[in-house]
Amino acid sequence: MEIKVIDIPVEGLKVELSEEAAVFKGLGEDVKAVSKVLASFSLKKVSTTVYLAGNMETEIGLVCSRCGKPLEAHVEARFKLDLVPLENLPREEEKELHAGDLDVEFYKNGIIDLKEFLREQILLQVPMKPLCSEDCRGLCQYCGQDLNIAQCACEPPAGHPGLSGLKDLMGK
Ligand SMILES: [Zn+2]
Ligand SMILES: [Zn+2]
Repeated sequence: MEIKVIDIPVEGLKVELSEEAAVFKGLGEDVKAVSKVLASFSLKKVSTTVYLAGNMETEIGLVCSRCGKPLEAHVEARFKLDLVPLENLPREEEKELHAGDLDVEFYKNGIIDLKEFLREQILLQVPMKPLCSEDCRGLCQYCGQDLNIAQCACEPPAGHPGLSGLKDLMGK
């Protein structure tokens, strides 16, 4: 959904969004599915700066990084930022001032793309190493048995080369 900055009234604008998952394709191979995304925005305009605040939530489908089981993660975000026209990109020194200021973003051609914004918000929430549970035991590295379901018969390798080396050192 795109908002024309020129259409934002002086008293501000409230937008409720409920986007079907299909809209959010291309979130990377780690994200298998996205359920309906619910979001609400409030936009206020002062001159060309748009103050955007709101929140969003959805469920995303991921795969456990230890055992490979599919899992659902609840994604929720609140945001508050200032949008300034890209065309008004601040001069060099001011740009440096803004570097690292995450609360300022740009919009292009007088249009704010809320869908693209939501897409970014979802991406920010995707965990690096998703886990089906904090204590997921993963798969046996030898036979592939899911250790959450049953222990396999594989023996852990005898001794630890690093440790015996340490013992030698300490014996001296
Ligand atoms: Zn797991
Ligand atoms: Zn095993």
